[in-house]
Amino acid sequence: MCRHLGWLGAPRAVSALMLDPPYGLLVQSYAPRRQKHGLVNADGWGVGFYPPDIGEGAPPCRWRSAAPLWADASFASVAPALRSECVVAAVRSASIGMPIEPTASAPFTDGSWLLSHNGLVDRAVLPLSAHAESTVDSALLAALIFDRGLDRLGETVTEVAARDPGARLNILAANRCEMVATTWGDTLSVLRTGDGVALASEPYDDDPRWEDLPDRHLVHTDGTAVQLTALKGPA
Ligand code: GLN
Repeated sequence: MCRHLGWLGAPRAVSALMLDPPYGLLVQSYAPRRQKHGLVNADGWGVGFYPPDIGEGAPPCRWRSAAPLWADASFASVAPALRSECVVAAVRSASIGMPIEPTASAPFTDGSWLLSHNGLVDRAVLPLSAHAESTVDSALLAALIFDRGLDRLGETVTEVAARDPGARLNILAANRCEMVATTWGDTLSVLRTGDGVALASEPYDDDPRWEDLPDRHLVHTDGTAVQLTALKGPA
C-alpha cells in the first residue's frame, strides 16, 4: 500500500509538503506509521503540481522515479524551489507482480488532473486502455477514472469494488480548482490549515487539527470547505 498526499490552497513549496514534515512522505518512504500492507515504500515516488506561472489549462508538471525517495539528492535540492497551490505526491510499495518503472509511480495524469491510488485491484476487472501510462493496476484504474470523469469518481470506485470485492481503492486526485478522494480499504486524514486543505494517507506532523476520515467515503474540497459523502457498495 502506497502513501499519498494532496494539497490545495495557498502556494507551498513541494519540499515543505513532502520532505520537511517530521512524518512526511520522505519518512513514510521508510517508516510509515499507519500502513496496513507493506513495510516500506521504496519502489518509487512521484509528485505533480501546477506552477503559478504555467498558463491556464496547461498540463501539470510531474517528476516521477522508480527509486526510493530518500535516495534522490537532486530532488531534495530542487524541491524548495517548486511551489504550487495544488500538489499531489506519493511514495510507492509495488504490489506483487506489478512493474517497477517511473511510469508506474503516481501521480498519473490526463493532462488536467493528477491522480494517485493506494491499494490493489485485479487488473482483469479493468478495461484495457490505450491511455494507461503503465500496465500497473493503478494506471489502468486511473485511465478508467479519467475516461468516466472525476465527477463520477464515487460511482466508478463502487462499480470496480463490486467487480473485485477484495479491491482496496483509496484514490486521491486534484486539479487547480478541486481535490477529491475516496477511502476504500485504507487510511486517509484531512488537515484544514486556514490557508488550504491537505489530504494524506497518514498525518505528516502532530498538528492537532488532523482528522481521520471514515472508510468508504468520498471526500471533496475546494481548498476551504470539505464535504464527505458515504459510498454504498458490496459488504
Ligand atoms: N497496486 C499499486 C502498485 O503496485 C499500488 C500499490 C500500493 O498502494 N502499495 O503500485
